[in-house]
Amino acid sequence: MKPTIVLVGRPNVGKSTLFNRLTRTRDALVADQPGLTRDRHYGIGRVGDRDYLVVDTAGFDPVAKDGIMHEMARQAEQAIAEADVLLFLVDGRAGRTPHDENIAARLRRAGRPVHLVVNKAEGIDRAMVAADFHALGLGDPLPVSAAHGDGVKQLVELVLAPFPTDDEKEHSDDEGPKVAIVGRPNVGKSTLVNTLLGEERVIAFDMPGTTRDAISIPFERGGKRYTLIDTAGLRRRGKVFEAVEKFSVIKTLQAVQECNVVVLVLDAAQDISDQDAHIAGFALEAGRALVVAINKWDAVDNYRRDRLETDIARKLAFLSFARFHRISALKAEGIVGLLKSVDAAYSAATANLATPRLTRALQQAVARQAPPRHGLARPKMRYAHQGGMNPPVIVIHGNALDDIPQSYVRYLERCFMDAFDLKGTPLRIQFRTTQ
Ligand code: GDP
Ligand code: GDP
Repeated sequence: MKPTIVLVGRPNVGKSTLFNRLTRTRDALVADQPGLTRDRHYGIGRVGDRDYLVVDTAGFDPVAKDGIMHEMARQAEQAIAEADVLLFLVDGRAGRTPHDENIAARLRRAGRPVHLVVNKAEGIDRAMVAADFHALGLGDPLPVSAAHGDGVKQLVELVLAPFPTDDEKEHSDDEGPKVAIVGRPNVGKSTLVNTLLGEERVIAFDMPGTTRDAISIPFERGGKRYTLIDTAGLRRRGKVFEAVEKFSVIKTLQAVQECNVVVLVLDAAQDISDQDAHIAGFALEAGRALVVAINKWDAVDNYRRDRLETDIARKLAFLSFARFHRISALKAEGIVGLLKSVDAAYSAATANLATPRLTRALQQAVARQAPPRHGLARPKMRYAHQGGMNPPVIVIHGNALDDIPQSYVRYLERCFMDAFDLKGTPLRIQFRTTQ
């Protein structure tokens, strides 16, 4: 599982600056997607070949007793409990404050590795700062400058060193796709899991070896095998699965990272919320194949259905690559169709795209609509090859490809999606200019 780094510190020390720095490599991938807003507290990052999750506990106040600060403190407590590594940020320019000392006292009892990070360290006397913060009792402070990026890469390498790198090994085909069922509380995830699994369909059930392992539950439907990845604490109680823990964003995000196909469950009786959109955005950012299950379709009238369709078109426009299913987990309606789309999305995500066919599809797309001229240069697209899968990466070679507008990239995505029937998976398009 990908390690989770949680940022803690009093306001203004630079947590969001560091968060942006740690997740920036991914930003470009999701830039300009219509309707997509980023969750500024949860993100994916990559340094070298290491992927990780980052959580920013902005607003953390360990002594707040009520109100919104209390709610934020509660969420920060949950994030601390689920962290693999805690980065405690302090401000090298402001020096040690009583607020820092309160947080340090809390973190010393966290039972998690804590690294003391002195931010805004550009051009300051490091020895003096180190002596000042040493008094927090959290070891040697690590200097960084989040704003300038100094020391950030080294910081990530240092704190992630104890965690095994997962070698991204290809999932063996006979176990079928790894599926994560995600969604906010009460949309019907546990009901769907029970409907999917039934008791007799579970093939085996491994309990996790350590708390970091996700539970995976292999099962069979329609002669095909799947592996369900546990999300928010789905646990077996007797013969059924239930969500016994409170909803956890971190566990949801970990499951999204772990799986091949995300099933995003929405509640037809509710409008699309920011939380729905953020979970969907995260799946897109992670490059996961995705199927949307609009659940509780049995419980809503036509007026509500129409309203929901409008709401989805507006708020989930960036999921145009995915198939949507109207289902009832409770009445077991629409499940077969849903699983067919899971299969199709998995095939699309892992498809082999041969260079000659890709190049032909590219030429047809360009013939129908040429890329816009940029200044004096007319971009010229010569050929395309596959640069990766899960999600499929299509690398386009040619001249003057540096400033292809996002709208044209999306046009190409649609062309490739149609040509190769890739519905269900996001695509990544990269350009290589050859002189
Ligand atoms: P947060 O409240 O902890 O999330 O802090 P922010 O990320 O919003 O940063 C607070 C202020 O510190 C902003 O004005 C940043 O521009 C500034 N800041 C962040 N990182 C650095 C840094 O490395 N050096 C300097 N000099 N300023 C920084
Ligand atoms: P979770 O928190 O996402 O795991 O949601 P649950 O599976 O616990 O379901 C929350 C509530 O919605 C329960 O009362 C379920 O009985 C109900 N529910 C789940 N699926 C459906 C459905 O398809 N139709 C209707 N009418 N109710 C459902």
